[in-house]
This record gives sequence, structure tokens and C-alpha cells, in this order.
Amino acid sequence: MRIGIDIGGTKAEAVAVDDAGRIVARVRRSTEHGAEGVLRTARDAVALVAAEPGVGSITGAGVGIPGQILGGRVLNAVNLGLTEVDLGGDLERALGVPVHVENDVNAAALGAHATLVAERPAAADRPMAYLNLGTGIAAGLVLDGRLWGGSGGTAGEVGHISIDPAGPECPCGQRGCIETFAGGASVARRWGRGGELPIRDLFDAADAGDPDALALRDELARGVAAAVHVLTLTVDPAVIVIGGGVARLGDRLRGIVRSALVERSARSIFLTSLALPERIELLPPDSSAGALGAALAVPATHEPALGR
Ligand SMILES: [Zn+2]
Repeated sequence: MRIGIDIGGTKAEAVAVDDAGRIVARVRRSTEHGAEGVLRTARDAVALVAAEPGVGSITGAGVGIPGQILGGRVLNAVNLGLTEVDLGGDLERALGVPVHVENDVNAAALGAHATLVAERPAAADRPMAYLNLGTGIAAGLVLDGRLWGGSGGTAGEVGHISIDPAGPECPCGQRGCIETFAGGASVARRWGRGGELPIRDLFDAADAGDPDALALRDELARGVAAAVHVLTLTVDPAVIVIGGGVARLGDRLRGIVRSALVERSARSIFLTSLALPERIELLPPDSSAGALGAALAVPATHEPALGR
């Protein structure tokens, strides 16, 4: 049995996955920040899920976490308050089984793909993109059933495609990146009214007719539509699964993104023929795609190494 852990900025989720790739147990806990905090979070999450009924011996563990991943090391995970930690090495010593560390968006892409294939087996060999709308924007690509990171891990970084050379400055040094219009952190900053769920507040204000909120919501929708457009023209995914914190808005997000895609395609027979609105699907808000994908990124073995 493999364990998958998804470490987010506020919550961490761990699942136990059997050899058939099914989730047999799942636990959630809050995330502690800093290098020590993240290590503790990962170890505790594994211990909690390993103690769940039906969880057998563990042969490996995978972790999905934001930041740059170098082997088992995690670098520059700003939202977790850490600059560098040997997460893979630490967990391997604690658990005595192989540990694979993966970028959180890539892990969620694998999990979303497995979920899609469980529902529709024909999706197994078709390209899929997972578009993560969180504090930033990035996509994970699954081609022929496997993650595609490119030559150096940059494939799918569509958040930093500029769609307006005169647009807002992006921390990456460009102007008008998709992420400046549709990334949660940038939108919240431009909205500027604080609140615990600023994007949800913005959508509420837009529904109430607030002109600033309507303009920002429009730009967000157009930014996501641009990402879908770019992904379609570069990878031609049969399905683009949209997940991440902003995707928890569900139908409220789906509606405006579909409209933006219809508008974008309206004057082009070519774009219309690509059926962009029909390609998008939203990850359900209670999905465990991140943790599932982290577990699936670990090579399956049949040699139990850690008994209960
Ligand atoms: Zn940028």
C-alpha cells in the first residue's frame, strides 16, 4: 500500500492507496509552516493515515508540495515559509520506505487523470491538462498516462504567458501575465478589500453589481480562458481539469470561464471548431486528487517494508 500526502498552505491531506490505485483511507490535518513544521506535518499525516482501519503495510510514500523540487528536496515554498528542506530524506529515515517528492500541481494532475480514467477508461491514453487556479496559475500535463515536465520542469507554466504587454507587473518581471489577471494572490491584491476569502467576496460583490468587482471578475475569467486557449493549441488535451482554491467557486467560476471562451471563439471559425468550452471540467471541491496523485507518483512494489 502506498501513502500520498498533499501539503497545502493551510491543510494537509494524506491517503492510503491500494495496489489497484483505490483510496482506502484519508485523513486531514492543518499545515504547520517552516522547515520543521512541514516535516512534522508530513510525519503526522502519515502516522494518522497508517492507523486508519484497512490500511496494510506501507511500501512507499509520495508527497505533493508547492515549490521547486530537486530530488527529495523542496526549495522556495513561499506559502509554507520554507526556503529549503530535505523532505524526501527526512521521511525516508522516519518511515523506512522509498519516498517520492513531487510538485503539488503535477501530483494533482496525476490524481485528476486517475480519477478521470476511473470514470471514463477511454481517457487513459488521451492527453489531459490540469489547470491549477490557486495563489498562482500553473498547469500539469499528463501525456500517455505520464507526467510531462519538459526538459527542466517548465512545461505547463502558463501563468507566466503575457496576454497584455501594458498589464499589471508580475513578480516574474514581465507585465500582464495570465497570473496577474487570474492568480488568486494577484486578484486579491488588486481587489484590495482584504477578507478571509477575497475571491469569493469579489464574486459576491460582482453578483451585487459592484463595477470594480465586475471588472476584476471579467479579467479573471479572460485570464483563465487564455490559459485554456494556450493549453489547447500547444498540447490539445481532450480534457482540461480545473482545480485549486479558486476552482472551489464551482459553477460560479465555470459559468464565467465558459462565457469567456465562447466570446474568445466567437469571431474565429478555427477557435470555434476547437470546442474550447467543452474541454473544461472542474475538480470537485472535496477531491483528493493531490494526495492520490502523490501516491501514484511512487512506483508500485509488492514488498511490504513497514508493518503496522
Ligand atoms: Zn509572470
